[in-house]
Amino acid sequence: MERLLKFTAEHDMFRNAFGRFLDNEIVPYYEKWEEDMIVPREIYKKFGDYGYLCMDVEEEYGGVGADYLYSVIEVEEIGKRGLQSVYIRNHNNISVPYITEYGTDEQKRRWLPGCLSGETITAVAMTEPGAGSDLAAIRTTAVREGDYYIVNGSKTFISNGINSDLIMLAVKTDPKAEPAYRGITLLMVERGMEGFERGKQIKKIGMHAQDTAELFFDNCKVPVANRLGEEGKGFKMLMKKLTQERLSSSLDALAKAKYALELTKQYVNERYVFGKPVGKFQNTQHVLAKCATEIQLAETLLDQLVLEHMAGKLAEANTEVCMAKYWVCEMSFRVCDQCLQLFGGYGYCTEYPIARQFVDSRVNKLFAGSSEIMLNVIAKNMGL
Ligand SMILES: Cc1cc2nc3c(=O)[nH]c(=O)nc-3n(C[C@H](O)[C@H](O)[C@H](O)COP(=O)(O)OP(=O)(O)OC[C@H]3O[C@@H](n4cnc5c(N)ncnc54)[C@H](O)[C@@H]3O)c2cc1C
Repeated sequence: MERLLKFTAEHDMFRNAFGRFLDNEIVPYYEKWEEDMIVPREIYKKFGDYGYLCMDVEEEYGGVGADYLYSVIEVEEIGKRGLQSVYIRNHNNISVPYITEYGTDEQKRRWLPGCLSGETITAVAMTEPGAGSDLAAIRTTAVREGDYYIVNGSKTFISNGINSDLIMLAVKTDPKAEPAYRGITLLMVERGMEGFERGKQIKKIGMHAQDTAELFFDNCKVPVANRLGEEGKGFKMLMKKLTQERLSSSLDALAKAKYALELTKQYVNERYVFGKPVGKFQNTQHVLAKCATEIQLAETLLDQLVLEHMAGKLAEANTEVCMAKYWVCEMSFRVCDQCLQLFGGYGYCTEYPIARQFVDSRVNKLFAGSSEIMLNVIAKNMGL
């Protein structure tokens, strides 16, 4: 069946070149990075040298103004090889879009060149030890003193938390605002700013090389010139960008499921039990046929949402994005689990890539808004 997304010959050429780049520059080192629990920062430079970062950035700021299909291809090719801890998606599709959408001309000229070259690695810091799903409850404060904000508080679970140089930080500039979300403001914090410290890497069950860390702010001085948008308008800005993040997370979850299915199709043909390949049992065929069906459904829904995004209509499709985020991420983990089962005991061994798909796909049900929060939003938008 033809895909809803119309990839051109240029897109196909890009896919091939990007795939070769991954095979040469990432695949040989990936295991080591997973053991080290970090992707070396220089890799961002390499992606930047080839023009693979923030491809949608407009030409006047040094980018090529590429369409979103290039981002889709990057997520798919990374997923096809099971390299999801190389989390350039966070930089390209989650963090930098805050600058491109909300930054002033001066801020864009200041930050985007480094984001494109890979010298500046970005992150988004919303979650706190006491506030994850309930973002309006964040307690990190920023008090204005002349040309600076004085920031106090902490963030946790921040992807790229160790490697990042530029962090979009959600703070409360008016802790007493009613309702609470009205007091949120977005500030860009830079590596080396006085009063900004990072905690240790958080040890996770999967996505090991994707550095995740706590961030601490102790009277950290952030220039007012680093504020994104207006004071107190941050929550609305976050919600808009979270829709985009949820689409990206769903694309990643789909790519993880597809890779799990490919690994399993191959394995069940090679593994003999009771004198025949595991793939010849009707149960195996049914399980994999169901997985393939769900993957096809997910791809069709996500392709449509990618088209909405490219038409600038993603915000209007917020309910459908939440449906996709909920269903595709649940599906991805279900598929990885069922595929692992078909590997028997080998599926439980870290030597087999299916084990990594199982743990790595688990996080998609949690970050960018948990499945439960997605269902809450869908129900609310249904008028319930
Ligand atoms: C690997 C990883 C990377 C991450 N990267 C980032 C990042 O870069 N930046 C960032 O800001 N955050 C990041 N996060 C944080 C992530 O977004 C949060 O973990 C997530 O939003 C859930 O928040 P919480 O962990 O505080 O869970 P809680 O909010 O404490 O939720 C606990 C449970 O309660 C459920 N729940 C909560 N509220 C409701 C409700 N109203 N109704 C029903 N159920 C509810 C939740 O679904 C969940 O099952 C990351 C997390 C992980 C694990």
